[in-house]
Amino acid sequence: RGRLARSNSVFGKGLLALLSRDRIDQDVWDEIEETLLLADLGTDATTELVEALQRRVRVEGTNDPAHVKAMLREELLRLVDPAMDRSLAVDRKGPLPAVVLVVGVNGVGKTTTVGKLARVLVAEDKDVLLGAADTFRAAAADQLATWGARVGVPTVRSDVEGADPASVAHDAVSAGIEQEADVVLVDTAGRLQNKAGLMDQLGKIKRVVEKAAAVDEVLLVLDATTGQNGMTQARVFAEAVHITGIVLTKLDGTAKGGIVVAIQRSLGVPVKLIGLGEGPDDLAPFEPEAFVDALLD
Ligand code: GDP
Repeated sequence: RGRLARSNSVFGKGLLALLSRDRIDQDVWDEIEETLLLADLGTDATTELVEALQRRVRVEGTNDPAHVKAMLREELLRLVDPAMDRSLAVDRKGPLPAVVLVVGVNGVGKTTTVGKLARVLVAEDKDVLLGAADTFRAAAADQLATWGARVGVPTVRSDVEGADPASVAHDAVSAGIEQEADVVLVDTAGRLQNKAGLMDQLGKIKRVVEKAAAVDEVLLVLDATTGQNGMTQARVFAEAVHITGIVLTKLDGTAKGGIVVAIQRSLGVPVKLIGLGEGPDDLAPFEPEAFVDALLD
């Protein structure tokens, strides 16, 4: 929370100063709008929010900075949508483990997220198994296995470079069933070659895995610092496979947190987890209230 507050504050100390001016005039609204746009909230959400706020200021006839700030908080929270279901489906299904596919383009923090999530689940006393289905990069399976060793869980991988990702994913889930694991986390390849290729690959992984056990979560990992680029990626993935949740990484050290709102509105999928650093404990559940407070801090 502390880290989130420091790095995600979009107004800095400026908001109350801004609202404390004698009149909340057009300049003030312009500055609020600009700040929200810079935070990557997106043009639609920003316009909607500023208009709602202006309406309320008019109707409630208030000029009290603290009151306007409270209204801004309420409107932001409404946009972040606290009612979305952000729980993770990571419970065993009778004899079968929960299966989580982790998808996203290279470099966004997929493998790191799998490692950190494994750590969270182990802390909840779950038996976790990792599947290294990113078979395109030779180093990817090593990196995942290193995370596995670090958090004390086994990794299923192929010895053959360029092996079929779907077959490795299937092997991992089969091993999970055999070993009575609670959760199998599958790290997938992130080559965004073209939409058709991606659809084929992810669709096949899911189909083949589901011969062994149903896929419970498909988590799309996005880098919070990539702005509009990340949004485009997100849409391509969402067309390729049914996404059940977003993991937004690298929220440490960026004031671009407004991207949460833009992504959720664009995909209709909740942000469930956030990455706050490179270490094993730097993954947190996404909490709308704490998040909005951090934006306004
Ligand atoms: P992948 O290619 O998607 O599997 O990405 P990696 O997991 O290899 O991560 C790429 C880089 O981003 C690595 O240097 C990670 O340490 C770093 N990284 C991942 N998540 C975070 C995060 O939440 N915050 C920061 N600051 N760095 C991160």
